[in-house]
Order: sequence, then C-alpha cells, then structure tokens
Amino acid sequence: MSRFLRPEYSTLVPYVPGEQPKGREYIKLNTNESPFPPHPDVVEAAKEAAKGLNLYNDPDSRDLTKVMADYYGVDSNCVLMTNGSDEILNFAFVAFCHAGCPALFPDITYGFYPVFADINRVPYETIPLNGDMTVNPEDYYGAGKTIFIANPNAPTGLYLEREKIEEILKRNPDNIVVVDEAYIDFGGESCVPLTKKYDNLLVTQTFSKSRSMAGARLGMGIACSKIIQDLNTVKFSLNPYNVNSMTSAAGIAAMKNGGYYAQNCKVITENREYTTQALRKLGFEVNDSLTNFVFAKHKSISGEEIYIKLREKGVLVRHFTPEKIKDYNRISIGTREQMETLIKALEEITEETK
Ligand code: PMP
Repeated sequence: MSRFLRPEYSTLVPYVPGEQPKGREYIKLNTNESPFPPHPDVVEAAKEAAKGLNLYNDPDSRDLTKVMADYYGVDSNCVLMTNGSDEILNFAFVAFCHAGCPALFPDITYGFYPVFADINRVPYETIPLNGDMTVNPEDYYGAGKTIFIANPNAPTGLYLEREKIEEILKRNPDNIVVVDEAYIDFGGESCVPLTKKYDNLLVTQTFSKSRSMAGARLGMGIACSKIIQDLNTVKFSLNPYNVNSMTSAAGIAAMKNGGYYAQNCKVITENREYTTQALRKLGFEVNDSLTNFVFAKHKSISGEEIYIKLREKGVLVRHFTPEKIKDYNRISIGTREQMETLIKALEEITEETK
C-alpha cells in the first residue's frame, strides 16, 4: 500500500475473481462461463466493429438498447446497457444506497455486494439464509433498505419463485429491490415483466453466462424509466463510454442468433441433471440448482480437499472459505465430456479417501 491511498480504503477487501489459469490446461469449471463459443456471427460482428475503433463508441448504445428493449417488450428508456452486470450493480449501490438507506442482502450470496458497499462507503446488513439455504421472503418485508437478491442465488444455485419476489416488492413500496438475474436463463422465470408494474424494481442481467460473452463484458439493467434515468446520471458521471463498440456489435449479433444460445442452455440444463445425479451417487449433497453450476458437499471429504485433489487432476472448481459454506464447492456446468471427466476424477478421489 502506498502512503497516498485514501485512509478509509486501507482496510478494503477487494472481490477475488475466479482463477483464469495460465500454463497447464485445466478443465475450467470455476467461473460459471459457458463452455460453448460465441456464435460465428458474433465473432464477425466484433471484427467488423474493430475497423472503426478510431472513433468513440455510442455512449447511449442506442442500437443494442433498442434490440434489448424489443426483446423484453419494454421501452428503450427502461433499459441501460453496462460493462458486465457488475457495472449496473455498482451503479445501483452508488445511486440507491446511503447512510439513511443501507444495502440489504442474504449472508450467502454474490461476494461482490459487500465490496460494492464498502468501496462506495455505504453501510450494509445481511440476513441469514434458511437452514436449507433458501431465501425467506418474509425476512425482507418492510426492510426500509435497498434490497439485493440474486435470483437464482449464487453460489447456492437456488431459485425463489417470481410470486415471492413480487411479494417482497409489494412489501417495500418505498425502497428499491434489485433482482440480479445473472443465471435466469437456466430455468427460472424472469422478473422483467414486473418492471412495468412496480416502480421500485431493478432487474439486472448479463451476457456472460447463457450468451457466451463473459470476456466481452456486457450486462444490463431493466426498470421503470425514472430508475434508469438515475442510473444514467451515475453512468455519465463515471464511465460514459462503458460499452465498447465491438461488444455492442457482438451483443446485437448474439440476440439475432437466439436459437443457438437457447439450444446451449438446454444442453447445460441436461448436463446439470446428469452431474447432479452422478454426484449424489458418489455421496455428495447437491442443491437443486436452476443455474449453470451446482453447489455440492461430500458427506465425508472436506470441500477444501476435494478442491485441491480435483486441481491436481486438472479440474478447476470454486471453493469458498466462509465458515457456513466451506464444505462446499461450486462446480460450473460444462460440456458432457467435461462433466464426465469431473465425475471420473471424483470417483477416484472418493475411492482413494475410503
Ligand atoms: N451476479 C452474479 C450473481 C454473478 O455470479 C455474477 C458473475 N460473477 C455477476 C452478477 C456478474 O457477472 P458479469 O459482470 O460478468 O455480468
């Protein structure tokens, strides 16, 4: 740390992204990326856009915004495109959380939320998940705070029915509820239609998971126009050109090839079922995930040991250290072949440790 750092940041604990290994070839099941490449049209569109990189990109991402607005059946002024969904989440912390209105989220959820709160110097509170790792909606009624709910939740993979989110919205009419739908395309029902009914709802989504564009950094927020206006004020104060022209073009091309991504999601869902069943046979407790990952703990081998031994065998998964989830690993769903390799490695590990 230099002697120039703002004193309040001396204790800041940054978010730790999943490892992107160099050197050895791993089967990468640690960052919930898609195992499938982008559609060829997406690659072409990015290449074509690269020819105009001497010019600034459109700060309003108008073409892409219109494509997304049409897709969701909302007005263009109800959509804001961002540099990954991490950016729209940060904008929400900047815009809607302050000393008089702290942030509120489950104790086990996306690890970036507390970091966004800390970097923005806003207080936050957490609510423990139920014993079975589900969110108890009633805990959030009349909260008087800005609520962040990842749905499905990460890293648990568990989904809260849309009616239950709607109840949270109704019971907090004077507070914003942010529903982070990073994993919604793998089986859940989106809350986007509710943005027309509730002026306190912000839904965030991403192209990083179901649309195979994690490296392009594209996300979005959908809400009533006034919320989007506030978020635009923040955006134009922080990073007006947040979505670069290659990413914008790639996003439009991805939306034109929806069938390809829908088919990939179907394969991921099938592979998730295969993995869940195979893990259970090996003595794992596995949450009923509606995402592109599973969250699993073994009945007798520690989460850390499984993580280390899988790594030695060339398979990377994500292990977390908080006490409540230290026995678990989060395993992204890849191709069938990758999942078969994972299961084979786990068969060996469970056999070795008998
Ligand atoms: N929300 C959740 C719950 C996530 O797991 C992630 C992925 N790390 C994100 C948001 C952010 O994803 P991205 O910035 O790539 O859109």
